[in-house]
Amino acid sequence: MTTAQLFDAAIVGAGPGGSTAALGLARAGYKVVLIDKSSFPRHKVCGDAIPNNAMRLLQEHYPDLAIRIREDAACPIDGYQAFWKGRRIAQGSWSMQAINSARKSFDQVLLEAALEEPNCQLAAPHRIQTVRRQSDGNWQLTDNHGESFWARALILAQGANGDFRQQIGMPSMNKSQWGVAGSQYRTQSGSMPNRNLFFIPKSISLPGYFWIFPVGENRCNVGFGVISKQPVKLKSLYEEVCQKDPKIAQFLEGTQTETEFQGHKIPIPTKPIRNSAPGVLLIGDAAELVDPLYGHGIDKAIISGYWAAEALIQGFAKKDLKSFEKYEEQIQTRLWPEMRSSYRKMKWLSLLTRIA
Ligand SMILES: Cc1cc2nc3c(=O)[nH]c(=O)nc-3n(C[C@H](O)[C@H](O)[C@H](O)COP(=O)(O)OP(=O)(O)OC[C@H]3O[C@@H](n4cnc5c(N)ncnc54)[C@H](O)[C@@H]3O)c2cc1C
Repeated sequence: MTTAQLFDAAIVGAGPGGSTAALGLARAGYKVVLIDKSSFPRHKVCGDAIPNNAMRLLQEHYPDLAIRIREDAACPIDGYQAFWKGRRIAQGSWSMQAINSARKSFDQVLLEAALEEPNCQLAAPHRIQTVRRQSDGNWQLTDNHGESFWARALILAQGANGDFRQQIGMPSMNKSQWGVAGSQYRTQSGSMPNRNLFFIPKSISLPGYFWIFPVGENRCNVGFGVISKQPVKLKSLYEEVCQKDPKIAQFLEGTQTETEFQGHKIPIPTKPIRNSAPGVLLIGDAAELVDPLYGHGIDKAIISGYWAAEALIQGFAKKDLKSFEKYEEQIQTRLWPEMRSSYRKMKWLSLLTRIA
């Protein structure tokens, strides 16, 4: 690929947010480059539970893609059970068939859909280090080897790691409100029930939860996430919980570890922040769009990616990329009500966990 060409949009990060935005722009006829530091397919530390809101958006706007995900990359989930310190406190199912999907497959299917569009290219591996708006309004993105890309507009979709906010003239991310979560894959020789299990473990006094989510082929994603203002030794806490919580140990009996436990940070938003500036939009984790209670963000990455593409398509049509007020309003009015309610529940959970 020659990097000297001017793209309509450059997107940093080919996760669910970046690929959805690329798909929207490329299908509307705009030239897009998706830039990622990893080669694909790549693993992403996650719980692999695909929120139904993500599938709803894909089904409505890209039904072909929703079918491909369900057929090629999904483990159907019939329901859930939740346990509080060893006792079952809830169980149920959802009105729409839920799915889990290992991120290596899920992200790949989304990326391939975008790359099938002739206007969309992937540049990987390239770790973007600097983004700069030039005097003509175009963006120059430069990677750690000094290679540059140029584009009329920029979408920042690089996830929770890496913050380009200061480089685009915005305040940097609020680092005091972060969660940390990690997971590993386990296998079992027999089949597993298709339901997601949530646990508040016995011995832990930090707000958070432990999960066992089946991902198909007798594999499950087992993980643990907490919110803490102090540094946490997550792997040791995870191992302690696996061994000492009798309910969790019971469910894990007979499983073999397939991969190492890996941790990753999760932004925990407390209030809406601006996610756009002239010529640039932030989406997904880079925009701190994560449910503060569950730590889920795949749906918000896909939804904000779709809206960001719409915002740019309208901006290109009007030859005006100065501001994206509709995008800001969509985030505030359509994502924040649920996130605000989850934030309140997370505060209650935090209090209850400490008291119990
Ligand atoms: C342990 C854990 C469990 C989770 N479980 C769930 C769950 O079950 N369900 C759910 O909905 N959410 C879950 N989440 C949250 C979810 O993973 C994120 O919200 C989601 O991945 C956000 O998507 P994204 O597209 O914004 O970013 P990402 O998926 O993080 O993608 C960002 C991409 O940008 C690339 N990148 C990063 N920096 C650069 C750079 N400088 N240059 C170029 N490329 C770069 C990365 O390689 C990556 O491919 C979990 C998170 C964690 C940590």
